[in-house]
Amino acid sequence: PASSPPPHVAMLATPGMGHLIPLAELAKRLASRHGVTTTLITFASTASATQRAFLSSLPSTISSLSLPPVDLSDLPRGAAIETLMSEECLRLVPALTSLLLDLKKTTTRLVAFVADLFGADSLDAAAAAGVERRYIFFPTNLHVLTLILSLPELDATVPGEFRDLAEPLRLPGCVGIPGEDILMPLQDKTNPAYRWMVHHGRKYGEAEAILVNSFDAVEPGPAKVLRQPAPGRPVVYPIGPLIQAGKEEDASSPCPCVEWLDRQPEKSVIFVSFGSGGALPAEQMRELALGLELSGQRFLWVVRSPSDEGTVNENYYDAQSKKDPFAYLPEGFIERTKDVGLVVPSWAPQIKVLAHRATGGFLTHCGWNSVLESLVYGVPMVAWPLFAEQRQNAVMLSEGIGAAIRVPESKGREKIAATVRELMEGEGKGAAVRAKVAELQKAAAEGLKEGGAAAAALAEVVEKWTAGEKN
Ligand code: UDP
Repeated sequence: PASSPPPHVAMLATPGMGHLIPLAELAKRLASRHGVTTTLITFASTASATQRAFLSSLPSTISSLSLPPVDLSDLPRGAAIETLMSEECLRLVPALTSLLLDLKKTTTRLVAFVADLFGADSLDAAAAAGVERRYIFFPTNLHVLTLILSLPELDATVPGEFRDLAEPLRLPGCVGIPGEDILMPLQDKTNPAYRWMVHHGRKYGEAEAILVNSFDAVEPGPAKVLRQPAPGRPVVYPIGPLIQAGKEEDASSPCPCVEWLDRQPEKSVIFVSFGSGGALPAEQMRELALGLELSGQRFLWVVRSPSDEGTVNENYYDAQSKKDPFAYLPEGFIERTKDVGLVVPSWAPQIKVLAHRATGGFLTHCGWNSVLESLVYGVPMVAWPLFAEQRQNAVMLSEGIGAAIRVPESKGREKIAATVRELMEGEGKGAAVRAKVAELQKAAAEGLKEGGAAAAALAEVVEKWTAGEKN
């Protein structure tokens, strides 16, 4: 009946804009296509200005609530980011339970709870609050999901460290991943982060289904496997690519990057960026500068002050570089490249850059949102992975589907230059990658159309949420 309120879903976003953005996109799509409203629940630890501005820019179909702060001071200094997020989530279960109980009072049609990848323990809060449909939203891909779901078994059967495996790890349907390229938090089994990931792998089994921000064409192998129902494993729905839509109000405010791109020839510029938190060690930053210069290609580079090796994600909670990144560029670099390159500090409107006709390549850290954005806009990639699951993504993109060329591990200026040149204008590998990406761009768009695979998957989910409601 017209008078009944719309179905409502509660979603929990664990820290990082890379988690929040796709979850918000899911909420927007649920509203626009299915009339479902959302409450986005966030952690107090990430109440940054960037996040607040983002949340307040969302449409009125999406409201937000913050959980209370949690004391994590008992954790060892230098605890991995995965550990921090997982601990925070676990400690928030009681607070989240009461938040959900309150939400049920004010929202008569709370049809489901969706937690993101590090939020598996929050499923207990939803269960305690009597929310029957409990889902996981997995913002990265089916390869990584396959690995995490396999972890309880791998933990029991693979002795020693993954990096010491003689052969790449082969999981059902997946591209073989060399041990050293496997998910970063799995690289040291003595680190609590490893235990947490195994725990999540087990805990995911308690969800009714897992929504994944990926699509069949980019990883057909695991898509085929995971689309088949299997006993003891939640149903898996590839519903991507969900990427942030360009904001219209920005169109009026001129942006130096876009103004510069407007003056460059078609597909002539390689965009260089390492996500919201990535930074290179000083030596690699220098080689990259010299490599770009040597490549003779036009470039638009988002620079951040260097990281120390091993602490690459210190910028993760706050996207602004602390120091002046320009000070770390080789002497005279800006001056020598001023006719072909633009270097901007800390942040660029990535979607606008990738959508621009002058952009012809993307040197990326292979964060999954960046990869999806690149594919949606048909931009071929050079893979330069840093942390999290990025090395795995690089393998799957370069050796699996062929949408990227990976920079050789040595990261010397000549190799960087040759890789960039091959991507932008090479007739061999470069041409193949450019053609593959054009194909994937089409497949991604097809899937999201009414009746396409991703749209149909989401429709099926909403159908489940609203069928058999008790009210
Ligand atoms: N992003 C951006 N400008 C930047 C850097 C990042 O707009 O200068 C956006 C990018 O478009 C993407 C997200 O931030 O949506 C980064 O997510 P990703 O998964 O690629 O990497 P992460 O930040 O999680 O490492």
